Amino acid sequence: MKLGAFFVTALLLMSGSTFADKLPNIVILATGGTIAGSATSHTQTTGYKPGAIGVQNLINAVPEVNKVAHVTGEQVANIGSENMTSDVILKLSKRVNELLSQKDVDGVVITHGTDTLDETPYFLNLTVKSDKPVVFTAAMRPATAISADGPMNLLEAVTVASNEQSKGRGVLVVLNDKIGAARFMTKTNANSLDTFKAPEEGYLGTIIDGHIEYNNRVEKKHTTDSIFDVRQLNELPPVVIIYGYQDDPEYIYDAAIAHHVKGIIYAGTGAGSVSVRSDAGIKKAEKAGIVVVRSSRTGGGSVPVDSAQPGLVSGTLNPAKARILLMTALTKTNDPVQIQQFFNQY
Ligand code: GLU
Repeated sequence: MKLGAFFVTALLLMSGSTFADKLPNIVILATGGTIAGSATSHTQTTGYKPGAIGVQNLINAVPEVNKVAHVTGEQVANIGSENMTSDVILKLSKRVNELLSQKDVDGVVITHGTDTLDETPYFLNLTVKSDKPVVFTAAMRPATAISADGPMNLLEAVTVASNEQSKGRGVLVVLNDKIGAARFMTKTNANSLDTFKAPEEGYLGTIIDGHIEYNNRVEKKHTTDSIFDVRQLNELPPVVIIYGYQDDPEYIYDAAIAHHVKGIIYAGTGAGSVSVRSDAGIKKAEKAGIVVVRSSRTGGGSVPVDSAQPGLVSGTLNPAKARILLMTALTKTNDPVQIQQFFNQY
């Protein structure tokens, strides 16, 4: 009887450890944002300090993640995402590539501010050389707020990163029970929890009570299909965005030329229409060897190729994402024909 109890206990322990050993290894890289934000009152959801809480505290606040994965954390930065720079996203991409090349890392989750969460994930979508899951998450309410959304978003991001079905889908963005593609997800509302959307293309899937359901795949090139490799680079070419509006002045282009930028994204009106002033500025910039890409400030639709208008076109990429692709493209070439092909493919 005693021996029987011993065997049962041993069996349970063994199956317990086997089960635990089967959990994937997920690294959480923290960069700051509201998910790590701290306010002075539980009702404050604006005007607080983003990036105040460290990665270990973020993980400790959601012990449920330990049932889904073996989780470890690293602090890459602790800033509001309006202060992200090409230096930080380059460092992040390199670290993710290093981690994913390790056999004992099955996926990466990155916590980030929401304000530029349409930019960094897209950069990693272009530059990560692995099909293992890379999942960004964020929050709209600081960790100290009533109904903070960060803890559930973190748990759902770790759950998505731990799931075999998430492999090979490109970099993912998970918030508010939705799984979206870095290529399309964008912030659509300054305040609401339900702000991250891909208004025309839709989400890739949903996650409810830990259950993941994928509905779509992204057709654009990404990660293992991407030809871009930034692992040996120390900087990205400078690219600025110039906004099109009534009275947009030509002198902005002079400033861009004087600062030796390598590329300009023109966030044009409508389907990327160019005012007469910007037309003169763009032609001057192109003469100075700057690659100009026209995009749309409308937040939707596509900018078609138009021989009557100067510059290449961004297709469906919004101006911020177009800037990420142009910086990345300029690490390879400044041939306009090839760069237009990149805009068509990625
Ligand atoms: N502006 C900060 C950031 O983007 C806070 C906004 C947020 O994370 O929701 O990091």
